[in-house]
Amino acid sequence: MGPGVLVVDLSSATRDNIITTLRETSPFGRYFETSSGSEGLKIIKNEVIDVILCSLQLDELSGIDLLRQLQQDEELCDIPVVILTRDDRTQTKIDLLEQGASDYIVQPFDNGELVARIKVQLKMKTMQDNLKRSNRLLLNLSSTDSLTRLYNRRVLMKTLSKEFQRNARSSETLSLLMLDIDHFKQINDSFGHLNGDIVLVTLAKLLRDYLRPYDVATRFGGEEFALVLPNTRLEAAKDVAERLRIAIEELQFSGELRDLKITASIGVSCYPGGEIDNIDQLLQAADHALYQAKEGGRNQVMCMELTL
Ligand code: GH3
Ligand code: MG
Ligand code: MG
Repeated sequence: MGPGVLVVDLSSATRDNIITTLRETSPFGRYFETSSGSEGLKIIKNEVIDVILCSLQLDELSGIDLLRQLQQDEELCDIPVVILTRDDRTQTKIDLLEQGASDYIVQPFDNGELVARIKVQLKMKTMQDNLKRSNRLLLNLSSTDSLTRLYNRRVLMKTLSKEFQRNARSSETLSLLMLDIDHFKQINDSFGHLNGDIVLVTLAKLLRDYLRPYDVATRFGGEEFALVLPNTRLEAAKDVAERLRIAIEELQFSGELRDLKITASIGVSCYPGGEIDNIDQLLQAADHALYQAKEGGRNQVMCMELTL
């Protein structure tokens, strides 16, 4: 699927001329044309368009209207629009550029110049798309853990801070689960570090599959995971933790790990609850409950005390 260009002009002769010229020389793979601004808008929304050539004078929706509508749309505002106009006045050209046109072409135009100008727009659009892709990739890398692909601690802290702000405005309860694999060091010692990694990846997948879409599963570090459950009271969070604990007990591994059985201990805290009034205290309370679960013999869920 090569880049796409859309030509919007009342005259079919003009559209034909532009498309024939572009086909001869330019790097587009897909060509669209219409005489109507509103039809043009539909095409832009349904197809992937990289450059738009649009005449100022159209029937119901003018070139400027189209430009405005595109600019109000977060997904479409970066598509370059080149305006075709018969008006050669400098002020008109300045107005067009100020209103968001990427370039303008005064009719009648030289075909060579048209192609050259459109190619510049396509090049800029391609560069912009690449930049956006790299930014998305970087954002993904900076927010996830490279082994398990779960969110990292940075996202945990951001999520908790967002949820704390939300809780200040509503009366919802936020719960936090701290989960730590029991005797994980022994798994590494018996099966090797690479197999230990497989255990972590398998558990991460279970967490992802297990939680609701608005819960956030993060790798807190090593073999420890922090799970944020928005809008969940302590009792309900305890049930989730208990079901999760059982699902972990029942996890089936394959290959060298086929005989391995793992367990985990889970500490649960919530906000509002007890005397917690900040994120550190919420984390400490879950960590303390986790510690008690370990002390109590592991493979169990412990909750923070609600009345201190
Ligand atoms: P406990 O039941 O008290 O939690 O015991 P444990 O053995 O799970 O805890 P401990 O803190 O003694 O050991 C954790 C181990 O996890 C030690 C460390 O080498 C291992 N570990 C941490 N990160 C990774 C990792 O990314 N991959 C692997 N394979 N092992 C890891
Ligand atoms: Mg452990
Ligand atoms: Mg640990």
